[in-house]
Amino acid sequence: MDKNHRTSLPDEAKKTNLLFRVFIAALVILLAMMIFRDQPDKRYVLLSFDVEPVDGEQSVLDVLDVVYRTNTSATFFVTGEYAEKHPEIVKLMTGREIACHGYSHKAFTEMDREEKKEELKKCRQTIKEATGMGVIGFRAPYNRIDRETPEILEQEGFLYDASYIKGLGFIFPRLRELKIGEIPVSSIFGIPLEDVVWLHYLKMPGAFFYVIKHKETDLESYLFHPHHIATQKQELEEFINYLKGQNVIFISHRQLIEMQDEGV
Ligand SMILES: [Zn+2]
Repeated sequence: MDKNHRTSLPDEAKKTNLLFRVFIAALVILLAMMIFRDQPDKRYVLLSFDVEPVDGEQSVLDVLDVVYRTNTSATFFVTGEYAEKHPEIVKLMTGREIACHGYSHKAFTEMDREEKKEELKKCRQTIKEATGMGVIGFRAPYNRIDRETPEILEQEGFLYDASYIKGLGFIFPRLRELKIGEIPVSSIFGIPLEDVVWLHYLKMPGAFFYVIKHKETDLESYLFHPHHIATQKQELEEFINYLKGQNVIFISHRQLIEMQDEGV
């Protein structure tokens, strides 16, 4: 009776039954892939520190202390104003990459074309005066960037931008319009992996360090600000040493751009 019943299912019900089973199978495969996913062969991590006048001196010195003692690569996105006020501190960064974070830390979305150009020029110039180094990278203050900025960056000879938040492309101008390299800040469920969000707004340093320790993909980029992250100096050092123990390779933004150019 049962057998007859089953074989007499209407076509529509059979189709639904099959679809349901396909759906469950796909779900199981997806979960298995998530649980048993292969570890990437190489894991690269980019650490970056946005340095602006509010950071003062001590917090930047604390960060530099961790970076040099752990012998790790990092990129410092420095405002021109900071380089002007604290040239001796910026000079201490020359063992690492220094990039541009605007001159005055005003949002680029609130400037006209000429003002943007001026900010980029002044930022570069003050960093050059303080360190003798040229810069090739840019991160917009507040991560706010508009459509014309990448084009201006290209005209001014910059090779990459690091302003976007990964996964939030829909609220930013389209990435494919960029003519220069783009190195977005990592995120999880759209929440940027940066200290100002996790330490200042969410007040969840434990969760922040857990996520950035265990996010095992081939490339992650984390954003810190000295005046926030220096309050967690010990945890920052532990985090770097933990990843080094996992054979993670720390590289600067410049190194990543060079690797991409070489097709690595
Ligand atoms: Zn900033």
